[in-house]
Amino acid sequence: MREKILDSLFLRNLDESEDPIRRTRLTILSWSYLSTALCYIQCIVLVLLFGELQENSYLFLPILILHIGLYFLLIYKQWLTSLTHVKIALLLAPILMNAFIMQDRVLWALDVAAFFNILIFSIIILRQRWTVLYFILSTVPLCWGYFTYKNYQYSDLFYGYDGGELVFISVLTYLFIVASISLLLIKDALVRSILKLSHQSKTLKVQKASLIAQSKDLKESNIKLKQQKQAEQKAREKAEIANRAKSTFLATMSHEIRTPMNGVLGMAGLLKDTALNEEQREFTEIICNSGETLLNVINDILDFSKLESGDVEIDPHDFNLRNCIEDVLDLFSRQASKKGIDLIYHLPKDFPAQMWGDGMRVKQVLMNLVSNAIKFTIKGEVLIEVIVIAQKERDWMLKFSVVDTGIGIPSDKISQLFKSFSQVDATTTRKYGGTGLGLAICQHLVTLMDGEIGVESSEGNGSTFYFTLPMKESKAKELPLEKQPDDSVLMGRKVLIVDDNFTNLKILGLQLENLSMRPFPAESADAALKILETRDDIELVITDMEMPHKNGVQLAMEIRKRFRDKPIVLLSSIGDQSKRKNPGLFTSVLNKPVKYNLLIQALHSGFQSKSAKSQIMQQPKKKLDSNFSEKYPLRILVAEDTPINQKLVLTILNRLGYHPALVKNGIEALEMVLQNSYDLVFMDVQMPEMDGLEASRRIREKKKENSPKIVAMTAGAMYEDKQHCLAAGMDGYISKPLETDKLMEILKQSANKIKEAI
Ligand code: ADP
Repeated sequence: MREKILDSLFLRNLDESEDPIRRTRLTILSWSYLSTALCYIQCIVLVLLFGELQENSYLFLPILILHIGLYFLLIYKQWLTSLTHVKIALLLAPILMNAFIMQDRVLWALDVAAFFNILIFSIIILRQRWTVLYFILSTVPLCWGYFTYKNYQYSDLFYGYDGGELVFISVLTYLFIVASISLLLIKDALVRSILKLSHQSKTLKVQKASLIAQSKDLKESNIKLKQQKQAEQKAREKAEIANRAKSTFLATMSHEIRTPMNGVLGMAGLLKDTALNEEQREFTEIICNSGETLLNVINDILDFSKLESGDVEIDPHDFNLRNCIEDVLDLFSRQASKKGIDLIYHLPKDFPAQMWGDGMRVKQVLMNLVSNAIKFTIKGEVLIEVIVIAQKERDWMLKFSVVDTGIGIPSDKISQLFKSFSQVDATTTRKYGGTGLGLAICQHLVTLMDGEIGVESSEGNGSTFYFTLPMKESKAKELPLEKQPDDSVLMGRKVLIVDDNFTNLKILGLQLENLSMRPFPAESADAALKILETRDDIELVITDMEMPHKNGVQLAMEIRKRFRDKPIVLLSSIGDQSKRKNPGLFTSVLNKPVKYNLLIQALHSGFQSKSAKSQIMQQPKKKLDSNFSEKYPLRILVAEDTPINQKLVLTILNRLGYHPALVKNGIEALEMVLQNSYDLVFMDVQMPEMDGLEASRRIREKKKENSPKIVAMTAGAMYEDKQHCLAAGMDGYISKPLETDKLMEILKQSANKIKEAI
């Protein structure tokens, strides 16, 4: 406590880091207040000791209190400038009072002492303009007083009584002492701050030297960095050149393999349509299958290299997710039915018809996963399931799972799966084939679409490959392409479903429940018959074909015998012949995997007919049919240089009933187009003399009216190949090896467009 009081009395609590000049100013001012107070005490004591007390001696008391108050105010608030003004005002007051009122010669001596104090305080503490002002305010009365003061009346304040002289002298001395001490203190402060400055300047010098050293180092490391950058740039350029060379090599290789494959696959396809014995047919099948496998391998490698070099972009559009999944299942239904595997899918209830996303890429990922699932499953089922993880307004987060009951994956191999060229073990390639690229491609694609891919599996217990994808609900509602049947017809109706596969049974049940129907599941034909015996309100039966003990046909026959007109829908695999052998037994026959829309149609027709009228819902695909050209008439020109490919295109077109003109290069194509009118030109891209791109450009330049539709036929499968064709003025693109379906689709579209134009 004592220390605290002393600290504040002597301003020791001032921050050390405070400017020494300011500290000194504060000290000077505080001491001047305090010493004035002491001086007044001394005056009182002197009067008390040596003189008689006068009336005006009491004036000392309030002035003493005022000074002590001001001293403490300064100590606690440190209002340096304003309290200096007050101090100066207190000194100026007697000077002015003497000038205007007393004009006393003796007091003039005090004025001089006060003047010095004013001058010192204003110089030391205040700014220059204040110094000038106070200087004028105090000198003018002082000078004027020197010449004019003649009065000694007020000298009585000091000289009129005993002890007064002592007081006068002590006040005078005090004023001079204060002035001198202030000067000494400020000198000391100046010296200290100069020392501090010189110390700082030394430190600065040292810092400067170290900065110079650092900047040298920096310069050196900058040079090193530049050199490194240059080396990196060179390495990058080299890598880019190598990458470009790789891409060109891949594109060329793919082109070179596709061109002869066009001949192999196309001719083998045509060969299949000719009269062949059993053995020849089998050989032809093998040629087709091997060719397709080879093409898949090439496509995988191309896809992978495009993904690696960042050439693949996501192209979102409106698409129907149900159709997308059904398309994938369609592709694999034959393969699955050959292996006796059930292909099933399940979409959540009330799922939006149209979504906004890259449907093609979703399909590609699903195709890869389903293909693997079928490849590595010997018996059982493959299920595609979609569940909704989150949904907010139009934003959906979906989880796609492909679940199989196959060989599974050992847990220590799982982490390797998504790496390129990795397979669980070397025997996989020998036994199942494959490049080990499929999953790496899936991972790239899913990541590009902002999703995540993963797998859960254990050896011998099947695998579940899943991926999550954010998707938007399309703004456009589903286009009313087909009229949706009225669901109210189905509402509440009771249907018996018979299937030995539990998953199939469950999902079929869910689909029927989605249609507000009441499904009754039965896991075998016998269980089904029992249910039919106990419940006569069952209106329709859906039965699987392949079941142990009693198959679908046998069950249907028994139902016919016992429950006469109950409509029965058969679920069978593509290629299954039993339905043909039993006409009239089934209301409808649905190929597995069951398509949702076809299921609804089958249910409708079942309830409508209620009689055993056979309707095959899914017709086998038509072969090349010469009526096609009558339906879609076109004048066609084919520009192709390779004899095998010429023969292939011409044969397919002839079989469809067209008689196209043929040319061997771009120049001939240009001439023919200018001289005749064609609706459609199939243009090979790489041809001698003038290539397809140049020929198309010239056709577009020279034939402005009735210009034909030009479709490129090329073995180049890269994205840029397509872009080049479109940039040259072509309208479409079909890649080699030619796929008959795609070719027919182009013919159809071209003919329809011409019809519309007319
Ligand atoms: P691949 O072309 O060899 O099938 P993928 O990248 O698609 O290449 O698959 C890599 C490996 O992962 C496969 O060779 C196989 O060993 C394993 N694998 C993928 N899917 C399955 C699955 N459904 N069941 C078991 N193993 C699988």
